[in-house]
Amino acid sequence: MVPVPTALSISEIFLSLQGESTRVGQPCSFVRLAGCDVGCRWCDTAYARQGGQAMDLAQVLARVKELACPLVEVTGGEPLAQAGAIGLLTALCDAGYQVLLETSGTVDIAAVDPRVVRIVDVKCPSSGATERMRWENLPLLRPTDEVKLVLADRADYDFAKDVLARYDLPRRCTVLLGAVADRLPLADLAAWMLADHLPARLNVQLHKIIWPAEERGR
Ligand code: SF4
Repeated sequence: MVPVPTALSISEIFLSLQGESTRVGQPCSFVRLAGCDVGCRWCDTAYARQGGQAMDLAQVLARVKELACPLVEVTGGEPLAQAGAIGLLTALCDAGYQVLLETSGTVDIAAVDPRVVRIVDVKCPSSGATERMRWENLPLLRPTDEVKLVLADRADYDFAKDVLARYDLPRRCTVLLGAVADRLPLADLAAWMLADHLPARLNVQLHKIIWPAEERGR
């Protein structure tokens, strides 16, 4: 039998309010795995792309238990870049948490425990990472999953509309559209969505309103 990897490289584990997705505003424990080589232009967690502290699965579960929150998000970095992430997600589900996974859309999500809510990015052209997308992930999305696109301009919006139609995403899962801060006014994105009757949710990053300074643990 192949041993299940339990070693993890952890950037941080903390309690905060969920800043995005359909759970926005809910208290949530975050497990941020370290490491990512996708290189998005708009990355707001650059500190998590390298480094990390070695922890094993039992240590991570113990820390999450201390935070005493029923909702847990595993994020990064790109969490699925670590072999131990799949076991961590299943262990959190087994421990009774409602588990969210935030992933870049560049790594195969097929092996993720079906109890996990998968929040999958689609990297728009302005991110510089569109060519890294694993498009095979999108047909795997279920009604409990969410897809997130972060837009910087009208070209990204038109790209997003095309992807939504091509993969039938609004029928398949929840669609979240966000705007890059200081690049695309939320009012512009809202107006485009309303004009097109786009079946998507405007994703405003609540944590950046509450805590505008970019810092860890938020
Ligand atoms: S995938 Fe996420 S962590 Fe990696 S570069 Fe892009 S935004 Fe940053």
